[in-house]
Amino acid sequence: MSSGAGRGPAIVARLRRLALGDDPRHASRLRFCLVSVALHLAWAMIYFYAVSVGAIAPEDARIMLVSNVVGVLGFYPWVRSGCTARMQDAGLVIPQMIWGSLSGSVAFVMSPTLRPALLQVICLVQVFGFFGLRPRQIAVTGVIAVSLLAGLLVLGASGGIPHFDVCKEAFPLLTSMAILVVITAITVHRSRRRIALTTQKLALQAAIASMRELVIRDTLTGLFSRGHMLELLQRESERAQRTGLPFRVALIDLDHFKRINDTHGHSIGDEVLRCFGDAVREAMQSADSAARWGGEEFLLLMPEARSDTAAVAPLARLRLQVHQPPPSAALLKKLEVTFSAGVAAHTLGDTIEDTIDRADSALYAAKHAGRDGWRVASGEEALAG
Ligand code: GH3
Ligand code: MG
Ligand code: MG
Repeated sequence: MSSGAGRGPAIVARLRRLALGDDPRHASRLRFCLVSVALHLAWAMIYFYAVSVGAIAPEDARIMLVSNVVGVLGFYPWVRSGCTARMQDAGLVIPQMIWGSLSGSVAFVMSPTLRPALLQVICLVQVFGFFGLRPRQIAVTGVIAVSLLAGLLVLGASGGIPHFDVCKEAFPLLTSMAILVVITAITVHRSRRRIALTTQKLALQAAIASMRELVIRDTLTGLFSRGHMLELLQRESERAQRTGLPFRVALIDLDHFKRINDTHGHSIGDEVLRCFGDAVREAMQSADSAARWGGEEFLLLMPEARSDTAAVAPLARLRLQVHQPPPSAALLKKLEVTFSAGVAAHTLGDTIEDTIDRADSALYAAKHAGRDGWRVASGEEALAG
C-alpha cells in the first residue's frame, strides 16, 4: 500500500523529466511549447465541434486541423531534441507566434462562424511575447499580426473573402488591431524592464563578489585577510572539537623588515611583502590557508598537519623559496630576506587565542635564537629549524 502510494509522485517526476528535461532554462522553453500544444489541441476540439453542429464544412475543418497538427507536432519535439538550443530564440517562440497568427487568419477566411473567436485567439498569440522575447522581436511579431488583420480587412472589403460583410466585420477587426497594438506596447515595455532588471542583477552580483573579495583578501599580497582567517580558525576549531583531531598554525614574521623599509624605501618593502606572499602560496599544501596577519606577519593554517613534523615541512619549503626564489621574486634573494616562525598545535579544549599565543611565543623564541628559522610550541627541540 505504502509502496503504491510512493510510486505516484515518482511516476509524475519521471514524466516531468521526460517532458521537460533536466536543464531549468530548457524546461521553461518546453513549458511554453506545451502551453502552445494545449492551445492547438483545444482548437482542434473546437473545429470538431464546429463540424458536428454544421458551423464549418468538414473539408475546411480538415485544412485547419493541419495547422493544429503542425502546432502540436512541429515545435515541441524540435525544441525537446535540443537542436534549437544554440539559436537566439531557442524556444522557437517567434515561429510559433507567427504560425498561430497565420493559421488563425486562414481560419478567419474559411470559417465565418468562428471569426469573432479567431480574432481573440490572434490577440492571445501576441501575449506569448511575454515568454522571454526581446523588444525588437516582440515588435516584429506585433507588426506581422496587425498586418495580417489589416490584410484580412482589405481582402474582405475587396470581395476576396466569402460571406464577409464589411459593415459587420470591420469593427471587430479594427478593435482587434488596436488591442494587438496595446498588447505589443505593454509586452515591449515589460521586456525592456526585464532586461534592465537582469543587467542590474548581474551588476549587483559582480559588486557583491568583488566586495567579498575585498573583505576576505589582503589587497597587497592576495592572501586572506586577518578577519577571514579568524573565521577559518573558528571553523577549524569547531571541527577539531567535534573530531578530536588537532590542527596546527604557523605564525611567520619577516626578519629585520624595518631595515628594508629604512634602507630601500616603503615601496620596495611592499614589493618584498608581495613576493613573500607568493612564496607562501607556493610553499603551502593545497589544504592549507594563509593570511597576512599584520604588517609583515603571516599566519599559516594547516588543518591536515597531524604532527609537528608535518607542520614544519611547509616552512622548510618556504625557506628554500625565499633563499632561492624564482626570477619573478629575485628581490627576496637580493635583499637577503629571511623569516622566523612559531608553530603551535590546536588541541581539544584550546581557544584560538591560546593557540595563537603559543605560536607567538615560539616565534619569539625563534627570533631570540638568531632568526631565519622556526620553533615548535610543543617544545620538540628536534624540530627547531
Ligand atoms: P624583527 O626581526 O624583530 O621582526 O624586526 P622587524 O624590523 O621586522 O620588526 P618591527 O616590528 O620593528 O618592524 C616591522 C616593520 O614593518 C615596521 C613597519 O613600518 C613595517 N610595515 C608594516 N606594514 C607594512 C607595509 O604594509 N608595507 C611596508 N613597506 N612596511 C610595513
Ligand atoms: Mg612583526
Ligand atoms: Mg619582523
